[in-house]
Amino acid sequence: MLKTVAAFDRIGEENAFAVLARATRLAAAGRDIINLGIGQPDFRTPDFIVEAAVKALHDGHHGYTPAVGILPLREAVAADLHRRFAVTIAPDTVMILPGGKPTMFMSILMFGEPGADILYPDPGFPIYRSMIEFTGARPVPVPIREENNFAFSAEETLELITPQARLLILNSPANPTGGVTPKPEIDKLVAGLERHPDVVVMSDEIYDHMVYDGETHVCLLQYSSIRDRLILLNGWSKTYAMTGWRLGYAVWPGKLYDHARKLAVNLHSCVNAAAQYAGLAALTGPQDDVAKMVAEFDKRRKIVVEGLNRLPGMSCARPKGAFYAFPNIRRTGWKAKPLAHALLEEAGVALIGGPDFGVLGEGYLRLSYANSTENILRALERMGEFLAGRKAA
Ligand code: PLP
Repeated sequence: MLKTVAAFDRIGEENAFAVLARATRLAAAGRDIINLGIGQPDFRTPDFIVEAAVKALHDGHHGYTPAVGILPLREAVAADLHRRFAVTIAPDTVMILPGGKPTMFMSILMFGEPGADILYPDPGFPIYRSMIEFTGARPVPVPIREENNFAFSAEETLELITPQARLLILNSPANPTGGVTPKPEIDKLVAGLERHPDVVVMSDEIYDHMVYDGETHVCLLQYSSIRDRLILLNGWSKTYAMTGWRLGYAVWPGKLYDHARKLAVNLHSCVNAAAQYAGLAALTGPQDDVAKMVAEFDKRRKIVVEGLNRLPGMSCARPKGAFYAFPNIRRTGWKAKPLAHALLEEAGVALIGGPDFGVLGEGYLRLSYANSTENILRALERMGEFLAGRKAA
């Protein structure tokens, strides 16, 4: 036997990738599958961004770059954050990384060890808990509740902070619920965090452009009282339809920057050079495509919520952010995972059972509406027929 360290008994993964693989296999075998499972925009990366990468390669940008990313890109990130949130960030606190995930990986690695507590949203992005367990730290779920519009509660979060708490993970707009935490609640949380000066905050804001119904995104960098212990996670994947490019960034406080730089040098050396030039074009070029994409998501959001609310036994609150709907399925009589499984195998609709995002996800499904309106309508029709004709397993 190849004997690896015990941490590998504890690491988890993302079931969305397994569902994607199964849906792809079924489709390859001739089944008509509608994929509302994976969380990635169905749009193409805008042409001018692709062209910038092609040009970068022709211009000879195919060697290593600094481990932390090219300076013009780090400057562009700082300028973008200033433009959107009126925050002043030094480019030497910005690090370019291969996607959004490495920031959570590195942050959790920096603070996770046996005896430490790490707070994370439940339901939430599954990699948070997976990585916390991997490090041997104790995962402390912060409940995200439908009755609170899937926002986190400042009071409940603060009550869960123990003397062992080292890291608090926040995510708004949120995966899988689409929840957006309102500013007064964030104000309250940040005020309360003053009583816990040793707790570092990692704010995952990868869906920050995708807010609806007149919401404005609140960037945690806007709070000066926690600036010296705030890690910002963001990137290009969702905003610019660039999931496969693997391009993200972090803003690190203090000496965490150097820790992260060393992890980067040990792990990936630097991010693909041409992708960095694409990211630079994305931030400094026209933003019309982002606006168009968000407007399209908003349209589909209304269609999906309306459609779900018409299905027998389902009810769906209107999500204010990201591109996910998180319908409550309790009145269908089904548990979430068997229903997700049956919908894929029998009705050809790929979606994810809520428990894949944490124990509090039971009773819910996650649908990504990053798919065409036509496909969304077809999926809703199939789900309706399935629920009307099939008893709960
Ligand atoms: N954070 C959240 C909340 C996400 O939903 C995702 C992707 O689904 C990520 C981070 C990871 O993004 P990336 O693909 O850039 O690593």
